[in-house]
Amino acid sequence: MNIAIFILIILCIVLILLLFYASLQYHQSTLPQDLTISKDESNLYNLYTLIKTIPLNDYSFIIFKILHFDAIHELYNEEEEISLLEFIKTKIPCRENEFCEYESNGIFLMFMKGERSSLSKRLKQFQEAIRFYDYYEMEGYEITITIGVYRIEDKDENILHMKQKARIALKQADHKGPNTIKFYSQRMRQMQLKAIELEQSMSYGLKHNQFIVYIQPQINPQTNKVVAGEALIRWHHPVFGILMPDQFIELFEKNGTITKLDCYVLEKVCSFISEYKLLIRIAINISTNSLFKIDMVETYQRIMRMYSINSDQIEIELCEQTMLQPISLVKQKMLELKQNGFHIAIDDFGSGTSTLNKLKEVPFDVLKLDKLFLQNENEKGRMIMSDMIKLCKHLKIECVAEGVEEKQQVIFLMKAGVDRLQGFYYAKAMTLPLFLEYLNKYNK
Ligand code: C2E
Ligand code: CA
Ligand code: CA
Repeated sequence: MNIAIFILIILCIVLILLLFYASLQYHQSTLPQDLTISKDESNLYNLYTLIKTIPLNDYSFIIFKILHFDAIHELYNEEEEISLLEFIKTKIPCRENEFCEYESNGIFLMFMKGERSSLSKRLKQFQEAIRFYDYYEMEGYEITITIGVYRIEDKDENILHMKQKARIALKQADHKGPNTIKFYSQRMRQMQLKAIELEQSMSYGLKHNQFIVYIQPQINPQTNKVVAGEALIRWHHPVFGILMPDQFIELFEKNGTITKLDCYVLEKVCSFISEYKLLIRIAINISTNSLFKIDMVETYQRIMRMYSINSDQIEIELCEQTMLQPISLVKQKMLELKQNGFHIAIDDFGSGTSTLNKLKEVPFDVLKLDKLFLQNENEKGRMIMSDMIKLCKHLKIECVAEGVEEKQQVIFLMKAGVDRLQGFYYAKAMTLPLFLEYLNKYNK
């Protein structure tokens, strides 16, 4: 009798274990098994076939993106990159009848079910779950993602349209910063329409001088004189009013017109220097597209010859994006510019992507400390700034601090030995006639 009870208990235990194992298997099978970490192009088609198998009630199309994936790609080897993607795959919050596909370049596409608040909660938990991935291996680098969500309104909508809407939301999330989730809205749609309108009126605007070059002064804190200026573009749009660069530069970069705009700015600056026989240096921003144009240096030289401007009066600011390109290519271009007498500035240093490691590879004359240092000022930030200024002195590189808004900052930076200060404390960017007035008043 006792033996029979014992066998029964053993059988029960085995049964429970089997049930537990089966439930685990079931749970795993609801995870995105289809997700393959490959370098292939879009897996949108896979997703399309998967969603065809379910009724799309209360679903959202989601795109999420690992921030600075390019930098991760550059800093770590392929194996580490794959293991990061594999890790993310294990944390993806998909349940039964929810799907995820890896697109490429740190971008994932997902279909998830549920109303807005529960979805939001799950996605936030997901962001948290991957944040401290191998924190020490990654030298303290936190993995952050931004997420764009499109709540599907029409089940029969083309998947490409769904993706486009999720992408618009993702772009908004990108603007907001790391670990943001944005849901697609009608307002976003209107902004998209505005972007299309701007894109269509670009060429006309360039031909009809709607783009106005402004200059923001740079002051030497020791002499209190204006020693240079940075040219910043504004679009005086007939319908939308004065547009700031963040409203159109990206569009220009996408459709390639940025090259024309950058040349346009150089030409306006040269004509200004020549007309008023300015002795100070003017910095211009150059986008990655313009820099890598095969005849860039030649074109810039030609424009400067037209106005008899010496290349040492022009400082070329290389943006953050440029420093993400293969460093050997960047170096080659920078050497070419240096050989032709241009001064080169690295813009927004410290904003995340322009690392010290890269700086040792490339030739440059000026380092511009990012304004974020001053915006989130604390004791550590000040120490880093003052050490960076010292380092520049050591390397015989000029150091510019931008985003200076307060007197205290001027005092601190002056003591630290910075060469030039730029910021609202002195002046905002102004039109050329106003800049001339400012210059005459300051430097008299
Ligand atoms: P950037 O090169 O980093 O330019 C500095 C930005 O900081 C400018 O914004 C300027 O107005 C702003 N700024 C200056 N002082 C202060 C300050 O004290 N506090 C704060 N909060 N901000 C300050 P802006 O003019 O809107 O330009 C934004 C970006 O657009 C520029 O960033 C540059 O990357 C790009 N950009 C502007 N003009 C051109 C251009 O002609 N060509 C290209 N390729 N890019 C341009
Ligand atoms: Ca700049
Ligand atoms: Ca800057």
